[in-house]
Amino acid sequence: MERNVRDLIVMGTGPAGYTAAIYSGRANIAPLVIDGIQPGGQLMITTEIENFPGFPEGIRGPELMARMREQAAKFGAEFVGGSVTDVDLSRSPFSLSLEDGREFLTHTLIVATGANAKWLGLESENCYRGKGVSACATCDGFFFRDCKVFVVGGGDTAMEEALFLTKFASEVVIVHRREEFRASKIMTLRTRKTPKISMMINEVVDEILGDGKKVTGIRLKNVVTGAFSEHFCDGVFLGIGHAPNSGLFKDQLDLDDYGYIKTKKSSTETNVPGVFACGDVQDNSYRQAVTAVGTGCMAAVDAERFLESIR
Ligand code: NDP
Repeated sequence: MERNVRDLIVMGTGPAGYTAAIYSGRANIAPLVIDGIQPGGQLMITTEIENFPGFPEGIRGPELMARMREQAAKFGAEFVGGSVTDVDLSRSPFSLSLEDGREFLTHTLIVATGANAKWLGLESENCYRGKGVSACATCDGFFFRDCKVFVVGGGDTAMEEALFLTKFASEVVIVHRREEFRASKIMTLRTRKTPKISMMINEVVDEILGDGKKVTGIRLKNVVTGAFSEHFCDGVFLGIGHAPNSGLFKDQLDLDDYGYIKTKKSSTETNVPGVFACGDVQDNSYRQAVTAVGTGCMAAVDAERFLESIR
């Protein structure tokens, strides 16, 4: 075991984790940052980011993440590869075990483990990801000006994605697997009233069709009749929900009904003093790189104040 107790460990290296590392490093806390399963987080699988302030010409996701990592290292962040398999928050210092058997102790912990969009699991969906298939209208909607797009799902995310996409697309079709919508009444009504949006119910996606380079259509299967139908489209947006990476904390931190870590209002404090959460693992609403950066900064400031309070 690495017996020395760290002041701060940051779990996760998306925009929230890197920002927490930059701020705490600059405050002389020398954080230990554990990479996680996907170093760089969800932005590593996006292409161009056009709405990150300060980059009017846009920036590629992996490049933005590489720059954040470099900036964190510059201020003294120490990176550890691998992912945490076990945490014990029942006593301080908290302990974290990695898959290779290493164990670390820390006075404060920032959880920035992110979330992942849920995918249907089709091979074609994977093949055309970034080439017409997306799970984030705010990120990619702009590329679908005057196009026809399908949105899969019947919850608030799907409704919100569909409404957002009408700013760009000429036609938006919501595909849902049953007759009732899980989305709130107000969102469903707003969606129904929007002329550019139509709905296909009792349909599931059988295949996303393409020409090898980009999406050209979608094949649906009606769950009542069993009939298949093919439709032309330029894009398919998945709005079937997100899964926060909070499994490790299930019995140790308060989570909401969807598994997001609960934080106190206007703060990143969790129910365990000394443990802070930021980014998509605690944000079921905005899920943007910029908001993750914002809460990452908050977590670093909160951790710094906590460390001062226990000295
Ligand atoms: P939900 O779990 O609420 O909805 C997911 C939807 O996707 C459901 O309609 C579900 O169908 C469908 N779905 C799930 N898996 C599949 C699949 N494999 N194939 C086809 N369809 C599938 O997730 P959301 O992300 O929509 O919302 C999560 C929470 O976030 C909710 O509390 C929501 O209110 C909130 N939210 C609020 C917003 C706002 O207020 N502006 C915006 C976005 C989210 P089925 O219904 O049949 O299970």
